[in-house]
Amino acid sequence: MKKTSLVSVLLSATLTASLLAGCSSSNGSEQTSAESTAATTEAPVVTTDPNEHLHLDPVVYPDALDFNDTESIERIFDMCEVVDGVRITVEKRMKQIRMRAKINGETFTLNVNLSGAAGHTTPEQLATVAKLFWYCYPQMYARFAVRNTPTTVTIKFEDSGYEIASASGDEIHIHDQWLKNHPTDYDCLTHELAHIIQSGWDGNYCPAHTNDDGSKDTYMIERFADYCRYLYAFKGGYYNDMVWEIQTVKTENTYYKSVRFYAWLDYTYSTQEIDIMQRLQKAVTSKTYGNDAWEPDGEAWQAMFEGTAAAGKSLTTLWDEFAASDIAGVTSKPREQGGKSTLLLKAPLRTAVRDRYPEADDYLKVQ
Ligand SMILES: [Zn+2]
Repeated sequence: MKKTSLVSVLLSATLTASLLAGCSSSNGSEQTSAESTAATTEAPVVTTDPNEHLHLDPVVYPDALDFNDTESIERIFDMCEVVDGVRITVEKRMKQIRMRAKINGETFTLNVNLSGAAGHTTPEQLATVAKLFWYCYPQMYARFAVRNTPTTVTIKFEDSGYEIASASGDEIHIHDQWLKNHPTDYDCLTHELAHIIQSGWDGNYCPAHTNDDGSKDTYMIERFADYCRYLYAFKGGYYNDMVWEIQTVKTENTYYKSVRFYAWLDYTYSTQEIDIMQRLQKAVTSKTYGNDAWEPDGEAWQAMFEGTAAAGKSLTTLWDEFAASDIAGVTSKPREQGGKSTLLLKAPLRTAVRDRYPEADDYLKVQ
């Protein structure tokens, strides 16, 4: 399966807190047609609306999730007792489920907002999304938080708008039919949660590449989010790795296109003391370097590498090193769900990062 091209829009280079990113994801197309067929077959035909057949499996709240039945909602979200003391509040009027917990001294809040949903996402899927949040977000936060990184996140399921998922400020939109049609693509939300971690990024102060037509590609916005998607994929990649791959050097064939390059760079050159990707997050959010300094041989990258074995090397030199390495061309897709890919067998990227941040263990119990 091929990853479709990523789309990112920096809403305004100067509006730093508002990072709007519409992000595509790889697909589960085989599952899609099978699921759609099953849903169409089972859906009762009780309508006179000639367009009704266009709506797949029309489950209407509160039938699927009764907001007056707070006990049953709490039961569904009980599965989210992933860390001690997650408190669940049901806001009937808002059609919103609020979860709050204190982790490593920080209080996180997740709002699952269903006011724009039409019931396509099942309660079980909603609970899985909530679990994904508690698994992924505090881990990313522990590593990448800077001043003003949001601790409250709202995920809105909406039966309108961008067909996949997008992020802006501290809110995520996911189309209500995305998980219906791509039932295992939960980690598109890991990508969007990473965009929230990137709150404060500014297109004028991050790694960028000038395209042939003169336009500016602020490539690191999406590379960083996909790097996080791969590293922090829910349940160690149980869902992600079957439907979404980090591309090999053949398809993402240069430093500004390749997600895998940054995973390799971090794996190879970051140390217990010096975390290159964390340094990058700090430098970009504090607007320390303009685009020019982020050229492959620029001072920004040199500052990122200082004190590591990559010091003094340009990004293009490191790219050549990566492209010649034995992990550049191997698959990230395991043979079976829950198995290990050749990539992870050769380079335990996720474990290596986890070892640097042992406090992440608390979240890894999430099942
Ligand atoms: Zn994105």
